Amino acid sequence: QLPVIYFVTPTYPRREQIPELTRLAHTLLHVPHIHWLVANDHERCDTFIDILLNRFGIPFTHMASPMPSKFRGSKPAPRGVANRRAVLQWIRQNNLTNGILYFGDDDNTYDLRLFDEIRPTQRVSMFPVGLIADYAVSGPVVRQGKVVAFLDSWIAGRRWPVDMAGFAVNLNYMSQYPNVNMPYKPGYEEDLFLRSINLHIDQIEPRGNNCTEILVWHTQTKNKKAPVVRLEAKYMDGRSNLGA
Ligand code: UDP
Ligand code: MN
Repeated sequence: QLPVIYFVTPTYPRREQIPELTRLAHTLLHVPHIHWLVANDHERCDTFIDILLNRFGIPFTHMASPMPSKFRGSKPAPRGVANRRAVLQWIRQNNLTNGILYFGDDDNTYDLRLFDEIRPTQRVSMFPVGLIADYAVSGPVVRQGKVVAFLDSWIAGRRWPVDMAGFAVNLNYMSQYPNVNMPYKPGYEEDLFLRSINLHIDQIEPRGNNCTEILVWHTQTKNKKAPVVRLEAKYMDGRSNLGA
């Protein structure tokens, strides 16, 4: 019996939301024993998102997890943090102590082999993430099967300088730490989350052929703000809908 992968996806309303969720769903549809936790940065659970998620046929939970208004518009804003915190609370409330937790944003790109790699996670597994900042990769350095260092173009005093998509956690392990948390501190979410579950370097399970293979990429979709437009259509009889 395979452990269930709880795939945590923060998402937010914008023009690109439905295409992103569709693309991600078409990856997750290939993965057995998965539960998709879709946490939307929005006041309520809109029906059209439920209809979309139901149609994919992937077991899912849809939750509303708006960013607190005091952070909205702050630069940098804590993107996806309210969402992931809501999921952590949901896990605690449902007393989930079985399965694997993975933070998978709606715009990243996932190789299907990633799911085989994270499923046997005992405590915390780690692996490289492609397309991160200047180095275009972030990940653990492994010597003789053990993680000994981290390569990342922004260390910034972090104990665990890793990307959100670069680790997976066993829920049984996590359940031992009731103070598990993710702070509203842009750039430091991963570090403080991993500290809150008392990670030790010798416990880290390297994945992806000792962290030499990239199985997830931090791809980013170009956002297009909705402009104010005058709608014009070309009528085939030569008239325009704009003219008198
Ligand atoms: N996100 C969110 N609210 C926002 C901005 C982003 O919930 O206001 C989500 C987004 O859908 C993604 C995650 O948070 O899953 C990270 O955001 P983004 O991809 O914009 O950040 P980046 O990857 O550029 O750091
Ligand atoms: Mn992103």
